[in-house]
Amino acid sequence: MTSPRSDGITVGMGEGHAEPDKAALDRLRARLQSYMLKKGLRSTAQRRLIVDTFFGGPSHRTIEELLGEVRAQDRGIGYATVYRTLKLLAESGVASERRFGDGLSRYELADDDSAHHDHLICVACGKIVEFEEPRIETLQDEVASRHGFEITSHKHEMYGRCPECLAQGRS
Ligand SMILES: [Zn+2]
Ligand SMILES: [Zn+2]
Repeated sequence: MTSPRSDGITVGMGEGHAEPDKAALDRLRARLQSYMLKKGLRSTAQRRLIVDTFFGGPSHRTIEELLGEVRAQDRGIGYATVYRTLKLLAESGVASERRFGDGLSRYELADDDSAHHDHLICVACGKIVEFEEPRIETLQDEVASRHGFEITSHKHEMYGRCPECLAQGRS
């Protein structure tokens, strides 16, 4: 059983990718605050608007998409400000930058310490599905340790065609 969300991400019940809960969002916000404090960065009104819009919206947005959303609220915000703020979010470990083969950088909230998700990407329509699969995580650890590695991070991306594109014969 799956339910499409407005942001084009399909969340299957068996896949268990829940919306980040409030406690996780608060931890990410606290992480950003302490990072900015450490770096001596001031929180400007524009930066706050960008950060709030990023926290509130759908996952995997490009800089252009986020720019469109913040400019709907403040026409004075430029590309460079959004770009720098997203870089700041990534540096502080609050956002993760992803590239799914279309040459665009997409940003999502970083996984909380306890959670990790991977992605299925439709090569026909660009839909991105998030999933969590403990068996894959366990297998990856086993493969790594067989080679004497301890994993610090990994990306698992699967490319293919989504059910809708398969049904319509899109390629
Ligand atoms: Zn598709
Ligand atoms: Zn994701």
